[in-house]
Order: sequence, then structure tokens, then C-alpha cells
Amino acid sequence: MWQPPRRKPLGQRIRDAGGFYRWFNAALIRIAGPADVGVRPLPLCRNCNTNVRAHRGTGVNLQCPDEP
Ligand SMILES: [Zn+2]
Repeated sequence: MWQPPRRKPLGQRIRDAGGFYRWFNAALIRIAGPADVGVRPLPLCRNCNTNVRAHRGTGVNLQCPDEP
């Protein structure tokens, strides 16, 4: 006779995964900021991690304020 498995049902596992994914996404957004929607309020330099507005130049020619 067929017996239902003792593991969690698939629907429950999917809900768990979805909940985890949403939690992970929320944590990621807190660290890295929201995805590219509109203008980022505070773009940071990849090199010195300060506000890009304090720099000269743009893109790959960005010059950090501490550099000569
Ligand atoms: Zn910089």
C-alpha cells in the first residue's frame, strides 16, 4: 500500500525556498543597494569607495581625490 513520504511536501519546500530567496534578496539589497532602477543616490568609486562626485573624470578615467 502506498504511504505518503514523511518528508515535507513539495509545496512546503517551495514556500521555504521562496521565503529564503526573498530573505536573501532583502539582505543583499541592504548590503549592495537595490538593483539598477533609476538613478543611484550615492554612486561609490570602485577604487577608493568614496562618493564618485568627489572625483574628477568619469568611468575608467575616474580620478580619486587622494591621487595626485
Ligand atoms: Zn576613487
